[in-house]
Amino acid sequence: MAQQASQKNAKKIVVANWKMHGNLKQNEVMLTDFIATLSGLKHTQVVVCAPYPYLAQLQILLQHTPIAWGAQNVAKNEEGPFTGEVSAAMLRDFGCAYVIIGHSERSTAYCESDENIAQKFMVAKKHGLTPILCVGETLIEREAGVMEMVVGKQLDTIINMYGAEVFADSVISYEPIWAIGTGLAATPAQAQAMHKFIRGKISSLNAGAADRLKILYGGSVNPQNAVQLFVVPNIDGGLIGKCSLNAQAFEEICLAADESAQ
Ligand code: PEP
Repeated sequence: MAQQASQKNAKKIVVANWKMHGNLKQNEVMLTDFIATLSGLKHTQVVVCAPYPYLAQLQILLQHTPIAWGAQNVAKNEEGPFTGEVSAAMLRDFGCAYVIIGHSERSTAYCESDENIAQKFMVAKKHGLTPILCVGETLIEREAGVMEMVVGKQLDTIINMYGAEVFADSVISYEPIWAIGTGLAATPAQAQAMHKFIRGKISSLNAGAADRLKILYGGSVNPQNAVQLFVVPNIDGGLIGKCSLNAQAFEEICLAADESAQ
């Protein structure tokens, strides 16, 4: 049943996207706090996605804890003369289990095409990383009522290149671009409609893959709206930007996810 992944008792995932923030000292303080407060969660996988230079630090501090870690981007190529790029195999060397793919801050600023994003998705899977694929529409697209068409097209690129089965054991994060970093989150009803659309689309092509797909919501999640968002059917957790830089706020969000999954 495609609904299963969002039923109570299914494990939630909460991902901290630190973006280009942090330093060795601050990270250590933050991670020590996360370990102390979040290690006991039974129904939530917590993931921290940090800038590349800090992945070694995450590996050292998190390796014997239940908290997983990952990167915020990966090269579409496996190896070679690609100055400044970091490969999926390199991320595995530093113990990464997850990688964010196609975040709108990257696709906008660095002109990443849907095809590039699809290639990154597949290279991550090939190397045993769980891709966290970001999809979402702009405000203009939402106001024009074409948000499902836009998100559907983003998914179609991957489906057409590799098939719907690649979504099994993957993560999609619905991130309306107008909600990222603006303080204006999608309402539970808006998020529910889009998450239902995404799972339904994958399910119509491959029901087994849809069952094993997690769909997160990202965009101005805070400790208050997390409580309402995480109980919505088909919302399997969150991708958290700003509030992941504040230990107390992030921990409250993780606790809300854990509570909603019990
Ligand atoms: C993000 O960058 O993925 C994000 C959701 O950011 P914020 O929580 O700050 O909106």
